[in-house]
Amino acid sequence: MSGAIIDLSKEPVPEALTTEICIVGSGCGGATAARLLAEAGHEVVVLEEGRDFIGPERNQRDSDMYDQLYMDRGGRATSDLSISVLQGRVLGGGGVINACDVVPMPEPVLAHWAAKYGLEDFAPDRFGSFQADALDDLSASRIPESLVNSANNKLRIGAEALGYRGEVMMHNRVGCQGLGTCLIGCPVHAKRNPRMVALPKAIAGGARVFTRARAVEIRHPGQELKEIRVRTLDPLGYHEQEEVILRAKVVIVAANAIASAQLLLRSGIGNLQVGRNLMLQPQLPVIGFFKEKIDGFDLVPQSYAVTEFEQEDNEDVGLWGYRIEGVMGTPGIVSTLLPFSGAEGMQAMAQYNRMAASLLLAPDRPSGHVEVGRGGRLIIQYTQRPDHQERLRQAVYNATRIYLAAGATRVVVPTAPPLVIRSPIEAEKARDITFAPATAPLVSAHQQGTVRMAPSERDGGADPDAKVYGTRDIYVFDSSGFPTSASSHTMTPIIAASRMLTTKLLTRI
Ligand SMILES: Cc1cc2nc3c(=O)[nH]c(=O)nc-3n(C[C@H](O)[C@H](O)[C@H](O)COP(=O)(O)OP(=O)(O)OC[C@H]3O[C@@H](n4cnc5c(N)ncnc54)[C@H](O)[C@@H]3O)c2cc1C
Ligand code: SF4
Repeated sequence: MSGAIIDLSKEPVPEALTTEICIVGSGCGGATAARLLAEAGHEVVVLEEGRDFIGPERNQRDSDMYDQLYMDRGGRATSDLSISVLQGRVLGGGGVINACDVVPMPEPVLAHWAAKYGLEDFAPDRFGSFQADALDDLSASRIPESLVNSANNKLRIGAEALGYRGEVMMHNRVGCQGLGTCLIGCPVHAKRNPRMVALPKAIAGGARVFTRARAVEIRHPGQELKEIRVRTLDPLGYHEQEEVILRAKVVIVAANAIASAQLLLRSGIGNLQVGRNLMLQPQLPVIGFFKEKIDGFDLVPQSYAVTEFEQEDNEDVGLWGYRIEGVMGTPGIVSTLLPFSGAEGMQAMAQYNRMAASLLLAPDRPSGHVEVGRGGRLIIQYTQRPDHQERLRQAVYNATRIYLAAGATRVVVPTAPPLVIRSPIEAEKARDITFAPATAPLVSAHQQGTVRMAPSERDGGADPDAKVYGTRDIYVFDSSGFPTSASSHTMTPIIAASRMLTTKLLTRI
């Protein structure tokens, strides 16, 4: 049997729908589960509130693409507006708009989860094959030197001058043409993401994929047949339209660490742990300005990482320290991040081809939670801890010294007020960054936690098979279950975890 992608903003809404397995979300977690379950002969329906955007529809225009490919049109933020919470909202999820960095879970982190959190299936010897399969799904390879652009090379030159360890990163591109617009979708489909790998296989196995279909409530969590209330959306995804009920025996929620908890909370499902233990891994950009042309928008925007300061085996938390990773935004996002306006802002943007930027990426402890307000409205509460602030200050200090060692004339940290550093001695100014609410453009792309897996209901929202406590066959197969930061990047861990959890589920259904 062959399945299909059915756009509910255009196609007639099916009347009574029943399926064996309903999966909410078509990203790394959901698409992987859909593929394995459909290939094993199970009846699968995937619900996805985004639409399928392929080929020329990915028009490389900031305004259109953030509007259509990102959750809340790119405007999602914590309740105090301190942290921009970026997530995909498109068929294929975050993999469609992410930076393609492939960073598997380090073995010490896996061992930490098994020993400290009782998640024995994550022990390196058990989890290794799932991680290898995830790398295979992603066609993971080292980024070729020919695609490392001069902005990332500046980071490498500066790091090497100071004797810091770093590496050209792994990625999941095949046939990349170096267009540089990865964060607003790849128009030539060079990314081996869930849209291009798992979903076509799921559909070939018979899965039906409904797009512009938002799950708003799961009813009867303790019964054999659950009801999922689904609202269709208009073609642009702005407004809800009709309501349809889908019935399913097994429900897999894989809507992302924020939306999965939101859906469970809206439905009144789960224990008091649901929504808690949120990690956002807030990242801070820094920008080096050079005299010469850099053209950081050319080739692969994110290809070199300074790994000197990352710690993979912290006894207390597993992954700790910080990384400095080259990055380049499209003009729209860069202009909003630069801390200048008026003539000064114009002058800074006129230097767009002379900038080399980095994201400072420090894992965090659980520091927030997700709530729902009236009508299911999402509230993301997060308080950045002093230890996270301190590691970001250290990261600013070292990133600025690296850019200066590579020949930058000044390094700008886009805080309010802006920090402009012109010499290694001035790098000490990093110690003055206060991180008072909404004074630093913190960005989250790797949300984790909120339905933590734990052997005891006291400690988590789901058991080690990711079954939500207190339910009959309602699971969460995304990074919601992670007790600590899985890796500096979440795509590979989520695919690997979904593979492991789905394989276990297949032994029971
Ligand atoms: C800008 C950006 C860059 C990133 N770069 C990297 C990187 O380079 N490397 C890396 O490893 N990771 C990266 N990440 C993180 C990684 O892409 C995500 O962690 C991963 O895609 C999450 O997978 P997921 O399956 O949990 O959720 P998602 O991929 O977010 O998929 C969830 C899907 O569920 C849908 N959905 C949500 N709620 C509902 C609902 N109620 N009903 C129906 N559908 C719903 C959403 O529309 C979405 O498409 C990046 C993320 C972002 C945002
Ligand atoms: S850099 Fe490569 S992967 Fe990114 S958008 Fe361009 S062609 Fe696609």
